Amino acid sequence: MTATSVSVLVPLAGPCAELPDTLEAIERYLQSTGFAFDVRIVDTRDGAGLGAMLRRGGLEAKGSVVVIVDPDLPYPAGAIGNAVAMIESGSTDVVFGVREGHRDERRHFLLRWFLVPALPDPCVRLKAFSSDAARLLFAEAKQDGGGFDLELAYLANKYGFRVEPLTVAATHAPRAKTFGAIGGLFAVTSIRLTDRNNGYRATRRCLVCFSSEVWTCAQIDGNIVRSCSRCKCRYLNQFANLDDTQPVRRVLRSHHPATDAERERPSEPAREKTSRRRLAALRRQLGPRARVLEIGVRDGSFGLATASEFEYVGIDASSPVARAARARGLDVYCATLSNFVNTGPAFDAVTIDHVLENMADPHDSLARIKDLLKPGGTLFLSTFDTEALLYLLSERRRVAHYFRTHLVLYSRSALIELLEHSGFEIASVGPDFQYRDQKFLRHILGARSPLLARIASAVMKILPDPLLVGSGSIRIVARRRAGTPTNIRAIRSVEPTHAR
Ligand SMILES: [Zn+2]
Repeated sequence: MTATSVSVLVPLAGPCAELPDTLEAIERYLQSTGFAFDVRIVDTRDGAGLGAMLRRGGLEAKGSVVVIVDPDLPYPAGAIGNAVAMIESGSTDVVFGVREGHRDERRHFLLRWFLVPALPDPCVRLKAFSSDAARLLFAEAKQDGGGFDLELAYLANKYGFRVEPLTVAATHAPRAKTFGAIGGLFAVTSIRLTDRNNGYRATRRCLVCFSSEVWTCAQIDGNIVRSCSRCKCRYLNQFANLDDTQPVRRVLRSHHPATDAERERPSEPAREKTSRRRLAALRRQLGPRARVLEIGVRDGSFGLATASEFEYVGIDASSPVARAARARGLDVYCATLSNFVNTGPAFDAVTIDHVLENMADPHDSLARIKDLLKPGGTLFLSTFDTEALLYLLSERRRVAHYFRTHLVLYSRSALIELLEHSGFEIASVGPDFQYRDQKFLRHILGARSPLLARIASAVMKILPDPLLVGSGSIRIVARRRAGTPTNIRAIRSVEPTHAR
């Protein structure tokens, strides 16, 4: 393990009587921690702007953590250690110091609205950056003065760095603000214009449509959710530990409350009814004894319903699931889409329900599905839709829940575009309905509001159980285009313009 090294930058805009005390306090503190460190005064009194000097200081800093502190140090020196610990533990890339009692989301709401939600405190300069974040953010920053702070916050979001606030106890009143409500707006306009004129390096591109208009839309436990403003897809910033042989993200990790999974699992009749409904859709499209592949077999209810009428083959990446399905007499293999080898003739239909969201590369997955299909063969795909009203209404509260089990969430327009690029022709797009038990629905509604639950229970008494409901998902039926396929490689070649 390499030792932590800290580079401390002290920006100095004017004479500051406390500076010698500050330097002594920082050095005394850092010596007590055992970190390797260097402290550097960034002097702007000789005419160069603060932004320019900080940029130079930040880029020349050699530490694994770069910290900016106030010259009069209006907080205990231990705050530097806390910030370094947050970065070194890997829980965040950027830390903004915030005075106690000033972590109010409504403060500077105009600036937050026009720029990014996570802004630094204008009265505290304390900021810490991992060396990666410092290298990229300082190199791209162009603003001077207070705008520099806002720009760092904006770029941290643009390039997908995690930003966490660090509450510091103020020991004396701050000297001056780095940005105000009005001055900040000028800086925000200038930052937005710079970005619009391609003044900043492009971000890592959207994995669905390759647009570089990608932003952080939420920070969840241990990851960041990125959002593409072109195709409206959402995806995790890092697909950590995604082992190709075990991409079973459907299985919840043990430290999450297991009761959630129990609650949301519809009982057998509801599942079987949903499977019969899906089978009926298949019957309308396919001839007798057609060869059907299901990707992700779950409890095997769809397989059992289908196997009597069609030649059914299933694959599932999880070996317990595949074993259980085989025990029920189904032709199911433990394989992922990428390592499955079809030994029989090409399939007449492929059905994939809520599994595409767990695949890391949609272009590759759809190209493989296309290769498994006969020309003119049909793809039945259902996924969650980020353009659905249900998603838009619940995103703020439930984003962590959605990304507990998914890697990518697609919008319907992105999926249509993706399928057309991958050699499919869209036959129909519609809402995906599923049967759910009334008990389950009452539970969900009861958790939201008791009044709603009472009204719903009264209404449900006259409705059948299980009940057919929409869940914000869509079902797309697409056909593999016959003739020369679109060259997927040509589309993919646009991709590798990664900024980091
Ligand atoms: Zn996109």
